Amino acid sequence: MTEKKKLNLSTRIFIGMILGAVTGWIIAATGNAEWTRIWLVDGLFRVLGQVFVSLLQMLVVPLVFVSLVCGSSSLSDPKMLGRVGGKTVALYLLTTGIAVSLALAAAAIFQPGVGANPVSAEARAISEATPFTQVIIDMVPKNPVSAMAEAQMLPIIVFSVLLGIAITLSGSRGERIASWFQDMNHVIMRLVTVVMRFAPYGVFALLAILAATSDVADFLAVGKYVALVFAVLFLHALVVYPTLLTTLGRLNPKTFLWKMRAAMMFAFSTASSNATIPVTLETVEKRLGVSNRIASFTVPLGATINMDGTAIMQGIATGFIAQYYGVDLTLGQYLMVVVMVILASIGTAGVPSVGLVVLAGVLTQVGLPAEGIAMILGIDRLLDMTRTAVNITGDAMVSTVVARSEGELDIEAFNDPAAGESYEEKALETGEAPAA
Ligand code: ASP
Repeated sequence: MTEKKKLNLSTRIFIGMILGAVTGWIIAATGNAEWTRIWLVDGLFRVLGQVFVSLLQMLVVPLVFVSLVCGSSSLSDPKMLGRVGGKTVALYLLTTGIAVSLALAAAAIFQPGVGANPVSAEARAISEATPFTQVIIDMVPKNPVSAMAEAQMLPIIVFSVLLGIAITLSGSRGERIASWFQDMNHVIMRLVTVVMRFAPYGVFALLAILAATSDVADFLAVGKYVALVFAVLFLHALVVYPTLLTTLGRLNPKTFLWKMRAAMMFAFSTASSNATIPVTLETVEKRLGVSNRIASFTVPLGATINMDGTAIMQGIATGFIAQYYGVDLTLGQYLMVVVMVILASIGTAGVPSVGLVVLAGVLTQVGLPAEGIAMILGIDRLLDMTRTAVNITGDAMVSTVVARSEGELDIEAFNDPAAGESYEEKALETGEAPAA
């Protein structure tokens, strides 16, 4: 019991990841024997990994709905919602714009596509990205139940916020409903901590599958592209976010990044911003000190419309494919890529691989062959995992900065290294979730 206490959840998840990767490598190195493939990779690990991802996904819709109704029904000043919404969307667009510009610049300087000799992968059927006008129309759910059934984040957000506002306008009846939602929010957060207990095993399995099934030769074929995407992702997470956090929020970026590590590991393992919402929300509220009022709105919104990591991949991939086909992009085409990627990130759902599908739309717009995607398809999973970690870090950074500007950030909690950790641990050990 006491021994368990020493290892906090982040450390346990980290150990799970390392052991998983090592196990996968051993399986791959020993030639992927048939029994390991059938019993372990496609058997035990697949079950463990999928059950873990499903557990997280299971929480997303109820958590976003309940938490957002709670947040919007506790707004004392309804104008705040418009202000917070405006700031949040502006910052999301700004960070995505910076991300894709950095990526295009890096691709232009380092020329990853010149002389690349990728192994040809089979082309993938390219589906169309949703037009932006349709994204706006679809934001309002015709039927909130079907939006929830399909886990469509934007319509759920719109419905929850409107319901929350109606609750505040409904006097004592509204107060009764609001207090039900607050209790329910507590219960669901408690469920998040229960599911997180399973995380080290889940990430172990996901990483083992990845390591056992990836082929190093594929990575080497497009090595310069892979290296560049990694470099710009790190640059964005370790330089751009800290700069914004310091200048706009006057907050210590080291504290921020350190506290984000568990959420980043979840995002990395699942490659889905949506599935990570429960963990991002818990981290942003409990560890970083952002009020539920802000976080319940900014985190699910960010998971849906803010994809800086994805924008980086798309920018570099566009440069890579253009160079590979010997096409010189004009300044106008560069600008078109920036605008397209920003708009596409709004319409991109936070689920695995979708960034690659949306890239097809961007390529077509600038007149590049969408089949070029086939070259980077085989190695995309690892990049997808890494960019998802950046995506959710961006969501948390913007949430923190917006909360700070609204006086909705608990600075003491932000600066306290143990804030929220005790929440997690105490809840796990005693079964009692302390008050938020
Ligand atoms: N997997 C990413 C996410 O969920 C989206 C993508 O880039 O494919 O954030």
